[in-house]
Amino acid sequence: MIIVLKPDATEQDIQLVVERLEAHGYGADVSRGEERTLIGAIGARPEEKRRVADQLMRLPPVDEVVPILKDYKWVSAEYTTERSQIRVGEAVFGGEKIVVIAGPCTVESREQTLEAARVAKQGGATVLRGGAFKPRTRPYDFQGLGEEGLEILAEASEATGLPVVTEVMDARQVPLVHEKADMFQIGTRSMQNFDLLREVGQSDKPVLLKRGMSATIEEWLNAAEYVASSGNHNVVLCERGIRTFETKTRATLDLSSIPVLKDETHLPVIVDPSHAAGFFKWVPPLSLAAIGAGADGLIIEIHPHPDRALCDGPQALTPRRFLRLMQELAPLAQAIGRKL
Ligand code: PEP
Ligand code: MN
Repeated sequence: MIIVLKPDATEQDIQLVVERLEAHGYGADVSRGEERTLIGAIGARPEEKRRVADQLMRLPPVDEVVPILKDYKWVSAEYTTERSQIRVGEAVFGGEKIVVIAGPCTVESREQTLEAARVAKQGGATVLRGGAFKPRTRPYDFQGLGEEGLEILAEASEATGLPVVTEVMDARQVPLVHEKADMFQIGTRSMQNFDLLREVGQSDKPVLLKRGMSATIEEWLNAAEYVASSGNHNVVLCERGIRTFETKTRATLDLSSIPVLKDETHLPVIVDPSHAAGFFKWVPPLSLAAIGAGADGLIIEIHPHPDRALCDGPQALTPRRFLRLMQELAPLAQAIGRKL
């Protein structure tokens, strides 16, 4: 980090900061400019640099402390020059082929889930989604079938050969979801449930980490770092829209996060156009835009009968619309040198 001193800092002030740095075991590189003195802290350790920076900020001669190193390490693009490829069944996130995850928002019944899985497979999706534990805003809304839902997903997976991603809301659910599913989904409301992040981080199954609806990219990457630093490096990031002043859409799909993340991290990035749009008609154009912007995949909600859905019916694609979207995506994927 670099410590910028106030313009009126004296030699005594410089000495004060240098002594503080030395007390932390750091070296100090003093650069006296015409207007300002800058002090470079040499050997700052990542695990304490933020605390030390906050303490230095309280010294009267200090104007600003500029951190140099990123907070995250394992998920940083600087960690490896290769992009991570994360396998779930036949699907490889971060490969040449765009991965499409499809399925219902919520497992409502055996018939509904098996039918949705069949359509997902028919359209070319390679991972099946479906919620058994549902994070609902209102406590009286349908909360999902829980363990029974996981059994139904396992049956749908068996019938179609598609691996399953499903949300885990609580650290106590991790062993059960680990047993029944192929990939953990961490929902937007849980992105900063640090105990949960550590728990899935100790598992050997890949994690789909959705962006918190009010999270910055930095916070999101630090959430991924919780998982990776716990031992599990198989994290796929999912942009699902953020809260803004706009109310027409359910969330504002921040497609700019895709190129930013490509610079910041080696992890694959997919997009959830369904929860961003909140309305089925807007899902196809957002899907195309996401792939055009470089996303490694999509997660799309479909329902055999959206008019009977117990959750997120307005945004669910019918089988017909989903199959059409998959056809529309193919030439785009080809145009940008990828496959579907
Ligand atoms: C979901 O995928 O059904 C879901 C609840 O998504 P999010 O956490 O992004 O709201
Ligand atoms: Mn949903």
